[in-house]
Amino acid sequence: MDQPRPSSDQGSRAERAPERSASLSLTTVLGEIPGITPARRRALADLGVTKVGHLMAYLPMRHEQLEPETPIGELAAGRLVSARGTVAAVRPVMMGRKPRLEAALMDATGRLDLTWFNGLYLRETIHPGVRLRVMGKARRFGRGLQIANPKFEILGDEENEPELRQGRVRPVYPASEAIRSEAIELCVGRVLGPALACVEDHLGEAYVRERDLPGLAEAYRMMHAPASLEEAAAGRRRLAYDELLLMQLAVQMKRAHLRRTLRAPALRWSVEVDRRIRELIPFPLTVAQDAVVREVVEDLRQEIPTNRLIQGDVGSGKTAVALYALLMAAATGHQGALMVPTELLAEQHGATLRSMLGASSVRLDVLTASRSAADRASVRTRLESGELDLVVGTHALLTEGVRFRSLAVTVIDEQHRFGVAQRALLREKGGEAVEGERGGTEPRSGGGVTPHVLVMTATPIPRTLALTLFGDLDISTIRGLPPGRRPVATRVVPPERALEVYAYVRKRLDRGEQAYVVAPTIDGAAEAGADMFATSEGRGVPAGREARGGVREVASELERGAFAGKRVGVLHGRLSAEARDATIARFRSGAIDALVCTTIIEVGVDVPNATVMVVEQAERFGLAQLHQLRGRVGRGSKKSVCVLIGDSATPEAAHRLKAVAESADGFALAERDLALRGPGEILGLRQSGMPPLKAAALPGDLDLLLAARRDAAAWIERSRTLSSAGEALLKRRLLKAHGPWIGLADVG
Ligand code: ADP
Ligand code: MG
Repeated sequence: MDQPRPSSDQGSRAERAPERSASLSLTTVLGEIPGITPARRRALADLGVTKVGHLMAYLPMRHEQLEPETPIGELAAGRLVSARGTVAAVRPVMMGRKPRLEAALMDATGRLDLTWFNGLYLRETIHPGVRLRVMGKARRFGRGLQIANPKFEILGDEENEPELRQGRVRPVYPASEAIRSEAIELCVGRVLGPALACVEDHLGEAYVRERDLPGLAEAYRMMHAPASLEEAAAGRRRLAYDELLLMQLAVQMKRAHLRRTLRAPALRWSVEVDRRIRELIPFPLTVAQDAVVREVVEDLRQEIPTNRLIQGDVGSGKTAVALYALLMAAATGHQGALMVPTELLAEQHGATLRSMLGASSVRLDVLTASRSAADRASVRTRLESGELDLVVGTHALLTEGVRFRSLAVTVIDEQHRFGVAQRALLREKGGEAVEGERGGTEPRSGGGVTPHVLVMTATPIPRTLALTLFGDLDISTIRGLPPGRRPVATRVVPPERALEVYAYVRKRLDRGEQAYVVAPTIDGAAEAGADMFATSEGRGVPAGREARGGVREVASELERGAFAGKRVGVLHGRLSAEARDATIARFRSGAIDALVCTTIIEVGVDVPNATVMVVEQAERFGLAQLHQLRGRVGRGSKKSVCVLIGDSATPEAAHRLKAVAESADGFALAERDLALRGPGEILGLRQSGMPPLKAAALPGDLDLLLAARRDAAAWIERSRTLSSAGEALLKRRLLKAHGPWIGLADVG
């Protein structure tokens, strides 16, 4: 919550009501509030709550309807009820599929049966004589009443028992070891009334009324002290809307600013340019590729810098789209850069593109950190002088010292390895980008340019995330696979059957096909899952299990055993770039039959004769990652197989592997990843610096998100820098929440 402003009537109110609370403001520290004990104050401070305003902003994560307590004799079946009594008897029941604990609860008016399924452990706490308050749904059971799996509270000794509870809605706060939700609720209660009086709404009354939302102070009241669950929901809705609106306003303000102040070269396009570009691509584009190319062409012809995300499943043919865009830059006498996450991929893309460009006059080179200093210097010089048209590289392109004569198009491939911050850095690479109002009287010559940016990802982004994290991007999707690509049959096999799997793979090697064997680490147990390329999604070894082999161990076992006499290669991130290149080249040419590797081959490696993939310890990889890996096979005309050797020790692991085996659809898998792991884990949302959502929940609040997005767009259209007096508070809050991560310092 924002710092309060001294409100003009505060002084007079203090005069009228001289007691302490009247002078309370949102910046009052909790130490000055009577009734908040030092112990609670310390516990709250550990949660980041030291002032009244923090306490207001400390939102309940949910609300509970508490039923009023009734004597047991008056409980009604079929209702949520609450009652208290003394445990008269306890009985563990081991029969049946679920062992359970049964107890009888008595008061002066009658008896209530309680059953906790799988609750044998409760014997420690629930025994005859204990006083309990219980809550749950009462059911008729024989002649009596029963509650299955009731919530309960131990009441302690009889004299100090809490009063009979009235029915009400209780906020449930994120608590800690040191402070329980109920205690937080008490602290909030100490300040709520006067604190609400200090809350200023940054949205107008008419604005919120139109959207059927409560005012800000009212929303906080509804969250902290709701009269009903409906009220609590309405309060949360307002705060969630605010959160999303502020984020969307920030994103769109930035976007509008960039579009207005930055200039990209408008690239030439004609039927002739189109024909010449297509001649260089060795296959006709699919309908899906064509559709995306058309969108990209429209973008690149504008002076407004393109900022487009192109998502397409593994193998959907994104490279051709990238090449098209890069060649449009070259065709207009500018330069293009393709950035990829690994050196291996840079070399490989470099080789692919070079062979396509063979006959043309387009000049291309590769810039990676592993090339010799002299080579790098040469590439840099030629980029600066304009002798090179296209460059393929890794992050090295981002480091200081690389300057382009006129960079017009930047393609970032496999975006899941590139952060938002790097994207921003890239935008500044175009030369001395001259900022200033476009379309005014200002002359356009004499300045540098900002490149158009295309971002490609094979990790499909669930819609809600796309609108938030990538809210500054336009989005295109390549649907489906190019002709000739067959879905890869995927099987999950337990570790005990690994030998059978490798015997099967051996047969395919004997027929002249090639195989990948992927392991999560280089050295197995020695490094406990610390392979640098597996860290993003690789999972720790399940407790109590020995780590199975890493790349080196697996390779030597296979060489001695199942693959004896075959040529086995090894590939991982600790080899020098030359060694890796040499290995890949030999695998490509067929001089290696089986390649044992880490996830270093996750992206990009393209060997059509490789038809089998085995993934060792598959449970240690993320769903999207397994899908990516699997995309390395199925690139030729032969039917391909992916075998996930996985330990399904936990139901979750079994569930995940099954999901990959059953779905060939990367988008569906991404949705499941989102559901299983939560948005924070996906796509570096956490690393993006975006503040976490507190009131809003995605994907559940999609409707609110869309409303906020629409409202934000209309708002920025009306008032692009939020500079009117009425917007001052809104703008201050917006900058505080989003200024740093979006980089709004330069905006109006
Ligand atoms: P992505 O980068 O999207 O994973 P690629 O661009 O590497 O996919 O393409 C996957 C494979 O499909 C490559 O072997 C590529 O040559 C081939 N391919 C792409 N587009 C077409 C097309 N239109 N027709 C035939 N093959 C294609
Ligand atoms: Mg690709």
